[in-house]
This record gives sequence, C-alpha cells and structure tokens, in this order.
Amino acid sequence: MDSSVNYIDNVATDGSVKSTNKKNISRDVESEIESLCKAVPQLAKTFRIIEKIGEGTFSSVYLGEARMRDGSREMFALKHLIPTSHPTRIAAELQCLTVAGGRENVMGVEYCFRNEDHVVIVMPYMEHQAIVDIIGSLSFEEVRLYMYHLLKALRHIHQFGIIHRDIKPNNFLYNRKAKTFALVDFGLAQGTSNTQIELLKVVRQKLSVPKAESSKNTRGNAPPRLVITNTAPTSLPPQPSTAHPPFSFTTTTTTSATRKAPMKKTHVTTMAGASTSRTKHTKDLVALRKAPRPVFSEKNLNSSNSTTAATTKREIKTQLVKPVKTGELSSRRFLSGRRGPATVRPLKTHRGVHQHLTCNCFQTERVCNICLSRKQQVAPRAGTPGFRAPEILTKCPDQGTAIDVWSAGVIFLSLLSGRYPFFKASDDLVALAQIMTIRGSRETVKAAKAFGKAVLCSQELPRLDLRVLCETLRGQRPNKDAKSISKTKPETTDEGAQKQACETPRPHPKSRDKTLKPSSQRHCLVHDERGWDTVPDEAYDLLDLLLDLNPNSRITAAQALEHPLFKDL
Ligand code: ADP
Ligand code: MG
Ligand code: ZN
Repeated sequence: MDSSVNYIDNVATDGSVKSTNKKNISRDVESEIESLCKAVPQLAKTFRIIEKIGEGTFSSVYLGEARMRDGSREMFALKHLIPTSHPTRIAAELQCLTVAGGRENVMGVEYCFRNEDHVVIVMPYMEHQAIVDIIGSLSFEEVRLYMYHLLKALRHIHQFGIIHRDIKPNNFLYNRKAKTFALVDFGLAQGTSNTQIELLKVVRQKLSVPKAESSKNTRGNAPPRLVITNTAPTSLPPQPSTAHPPFSFTTTTTTSATRKAPMKKTHVTTMAGASTSRTKHTKDLVALRKAPRPVFSEKNLNSSNSTTAATTKREIKTQLVKPVKTGELSSRRFLSGRRGPATVRPLKTHRGVHQHLTCNCFQTERVCNICLSRKQQVAPRAGTPGFRAPEILTKCPDQGTAIDVWSAGVIFLSLLSGRYPFFKASDDLVALAQIMTIRGSRETVKAAKAFGKAVLCSQELPRLDLRVLCETLRGQRPNKDAKSISKTKPETTDEGAQKQACETPRPHPKSRDKTLKPSSQRHCLVHDERGWDTVPDEAYDLLDLLLDLNPNSRITAAQALEHPLFKDL
C-alpha cells in the first residue's frame, strides 16, 4: 500500500472540486462531494472527483481521477465509509482487500485516507455494467464465464478463511466487453475459525452484532492502524437518509405474531430492521423499475391467485409452534406454519438460564412463561435476504464459506432464468418459504434437520426441476408450462399442468450421479442465438449442487471450478 503513495500526485490537479465537475451531476451529489473534500482535504489535492458511482447504507462510492507522476491520468473508485462504521470493521475490510485483493477476480486497494472518523478507501476503478441492465441480453456462454470467475473469486477468498457474506451481482463487478470481473465490498466479511485475516479474528470475537447495529456506538475508538493520512479536524454533515425498503408492505405475520406472543414483536421488528439494513436502497429502487420482475416477491408468494411456480392456487399455511419441550438440541429454532397467508415464523430457542426447564407449550398456540424468558439465539445474519442461505435464514449459528456458495447459486439461478432479482423478500421466513417453493419443502425440512433446525411447513411443496423452471421463466418453452409459471400473465392454467412441467419425480435422484436428460427434452425449445436453447445438463447439475440446502454437503467453490461445466476453462 505504501508504494502507491509515490505515484499519486500530491499537487492539486485543478482547483476546487466544484469547478472541476463538468459532468452534469445533481446539486445534491455536488454538495456531497464538496463536503467529502472538506472532511478529507487530502482527497481534493489528489483527485478530481467526477461523480458518485455507488451508494449504500454504509458507504458512498465516487469516481476520482488522479494525475500520475508520469503525467498520465488514472481513474479510481473512492469508497467513503460512513463515519460511524466501527474502526475494527473498517480495518478488517481493508485487510481483506490488501491481503486477498488485487488478483483472482478480487478487487485490490491502492490507498486509504483518513481524517478523524472519515475513511476513504481508494481502489482502481473498474468500469462495469449492472446485471439488472444486461440480464436480458446475456448469452449462455457469458453466464458460464461469469459463474466461473465468480467461483474463482470465492475459492480465493475462502482459501484465506474469508466469508464474504454479501455475495450478489452488485458486489461482483462485471465488465462485459473486457470480460473482467472483480469482487468488491468486504464490509460484512467474517472470518472462518481458522481465518488468515487477523482483523477478522477480532471481528469474530468482538463484533458479533451485525454491522447495522455495531455502527451505532462506535465513534471515538482508536483508529485502525492501516489508515495513513491525518489532517485538521473537519466533519461532514449527516448524510441524507435514503432508506426506503424496495417494497413496503407489512406482512400479516408481524401483526399476528405481535398479538399472539408479546415477545415475538421485538423479534420480528429486529429481523425486519436488519433485513433492510444493508439494502442499497437507491439502486434497488431504480433497479426495480427497470428490472424484469422478480420471480418471487412477498406479494406474489402470499397471494392466493399467484401464478408463480409452485404457489399456484396455493398458500403455504404456517403456524406458530412452540419449541420442543426437552433440551435435546441446544441450538434449535423452529419455523412453523400458521393458518393464513404464506408465512413462516421462527420460534424462540430453549437456551440460557432456563435451558434445563421443560414446558408444555410445544405445538400449541401459546407461549409459556418459561419460553418467554429464554434467550434468543444470536447468529450472524447480515447480507441481502434474497441471497441468504437456508442456514442463515434459520439462524444457524454455525455458518461457513458455504453461505457464499449458496449466494452464487442464487445468482446462477437468476442468470439462467433471466430473472433478477430471483427471490425478493424483506423477511427471512418469507425468503425461506420462497426457497422451499423451488427446492421443495420436504428437502428443506430434511436439510434444516441436518444442521440442527426444525422447520415445519403446513403444506408440502414439491421440488422443481431446475431446467424446466429456468426454461419456462426464460420463455424458452412456448407451451402450457410457460403460462403456468409466468406470473406476468393472468392466471389461466391448471395446477396440474404446472406440476407436471416442473416437479421432479420422487425420490429425487442424487444429483451428482444423475443421468443426463434425453435431448428430446430440449428440441421443442425456441431457437435462440445466444445459446439458451442448448444449455447443457451440466449447468443445471452445477446449479443443483450450489443450491444444496444442506451447507455440509453443498459443493465448495474449489470443487465447483472442477465441475464438467467448466472443463474447457
Ligand atoms: P457498499 O458497502 O456501500 O455496498 P461497495 O463496496 O459494494 O459499497 O460499492 C458500492 C458500489 O460502488 C458497487 O456496487 C459498485 O457499483 C461501485 N464500486 C465499488 N468499488 C468499485 C470499483 N473499484 N470500481 C468501480 N466501481 C466500484
Ligand atoms: Mg456493496
Ligand atoms: Zn414453552
């Protein structure tokens, strides 16, 4: 990192920030840039800040141009972290970038500025396209390449014991023309038990609370050692809040849960708050307008006339069920069905001081005092709901690198089906219900059991055939299947046709030794120049392995790179 300081020109390039912004940027952004330069004066001496290129809850990213020693000009991405970010968290993010970055499709870091509690991470700028803008025009070959490079980045960071925790297209930059890729945003990263990133060990020990919560109380702590510059104290005005959930409907679960069990109120509130905490609100809202409809949203999952796959004319009935009364499992949490719209609810665990006590409220509608006084299970759950693995959604405390692999699987599902986002949920249990409609409820229950969680679903949801699902959503199957699966059309289909189209016969064969489907399955597909009519079985086989509900048997990034789908790469 020190070496980079030598080639960044320390002399002001051309006067004030304002006068250098020739591009038509909004007044808001203009004044934001001005404030940033006041807060971190060294920035303006080094960069001409051109525009804002990204904004999240925890940072704003700007494009900056610097004049190099040799007279050339180079572009940089300047990531300004919100001043309330925990110093250890910031330092850990930097350490991930410095130790693992700069190779294997992982973004590197060039420099870092700090003034008071303002930290700006300087990275090489990588031009990229938003997946939401190009998903409709990607070829299968491009998708295959994208997945290969994403898995390569994951293998690399996992080798360092880094769990990224927020794998999604916005954090994996893709330059379509140059065919370059870069994993960014280690703001939520955590270490495995044997991580090589020293500061992630500290994060592991000290910061078990999610970033959103930890950022509240962290001003004034000792600054991380990695930051370099320091000048006269100045401060930024508070950033305007752009916090609007992409969808703002309240699920019936909240009200019912509140009514039934006072304790749940807090629980539900906490969860809802945290689920949206990391959303890039502005971007997502824009994306929402332009994007192809998500396959799932809470609305269409809950709605009884939904034509979404597997929810046709059905509702997932869920019921609040109490935990098992004896302590056979210390870490369990129950997800269960309640009558009413599709919802799944978590239940408190039998832990803490009352762990030894037994109660009689199991599988009843009431929560007894013993259960009310039990400690809630704490498990990391940062990230974006639609990309969260089942073990996160069920608050499994033992989470590893497999959670990133699951997210990669969701991305692959999105790319193969041409739908982004694929899952859209503001609540973990809605997200879990959406997963069940694709992967099957029986399979989900079984997998959850394997990692110590009991999930109850009032209705059996069949596991869907991934090829049929993706081809149908993509419009490759111009027959009755398409009608039954596309929710953009009014519901006209019979459930039977859809079931026939998508359900995988039981017992589901172990996907690894699944025999390849006869090519006759494909020849009714709409001809497609971009290769969507000739997607090989290997693609769906890999998808199946990435979306393994059980983290213990889920394929690793390293194994996935060895998959036949990538044999020529
Ligand atoms: P946040 O923690 O706020 O999500 P990210 O690190 O994900 O911050 O960056 C937000 C956005 O800024 C990214 O989605 C991307 O569009 C853009 N961005 C981040 N780093 C770079 C970079 N090195 N080059 C180009 N764009 C970047
Ligand atoms: Mg991000
Ligand atoms: Zn009880």
